[in-house]
Amino acid sequence: MKIKLLSLMIIGFLAYFPAPLRAEDTAAINATATTPWLSIGNSQIKVIYPPEINLKKLEARLRGRDFPVSSAERDLFSNRKYHIENRIVARLGAILSRVKDILGVNPDQMHIIIKVFRNHKELADAYQGISGERSNSRAFYAQRTETIYTSIQDITDSVIAHEMDHAVVDHYFKFVPTEKIAELLARDVDSRLDGE
Ligand SMILES: [Zn+2]
Repeated sequence: MKIKLLSLMIIGFLAYFPAPLRAEDTAAINATATTPWLSIGNSQIKVIYPPEINLKKLEARLRGRDFPVSSAERDLFSNRKYHIENRIVARLGAILSRVKDILGVNPDQMHIIIKVFRNHKELADAYQGISGERSNSRAFYAQRTETIYTSIQDITDSVIAHEMDHAVVDHYFKFVPTEKIAELLARDVDSRLDGE
């Protein structure tokens, strides 16, 4: 799923979004967090999460699929000699590379932010804060902030691959495809993740 705030704004629905996304987004986080959130990442991918989130659990939830990777990539996300923060970022980088491979595109200067909430309810609240609607979705991608929103209860490598597809497609195409086409592409990428 993704939210196309930009096009909504262009056709004059700005009145329905009284505050900019970043402000609403911050408010949604502040409402549930008393301690500052933490972040890990590199120049391409940044993960933002509250301190209560167990990184071992996060790593395990990103290891459900076995898709083709180079041995160098596998070492970076599997070798226990690396810190867990680095292994998680390497795993997410491998998923992003796989998504780009399947799509056959490599947009440069992509920065993806992944916000991981503590639970599904916080995620649904954030979605409502941004879109004004209630959703049961396990994750969504907001074009305007280039951010994937999910929760520790919802995140899997499949979920992330699907949302990364939305991010890559939005970066690559000059004219963003319709939501129906974007959704079909994202589902296709997920189903091809394991193949050669
Ligand atoms: Zn989607």
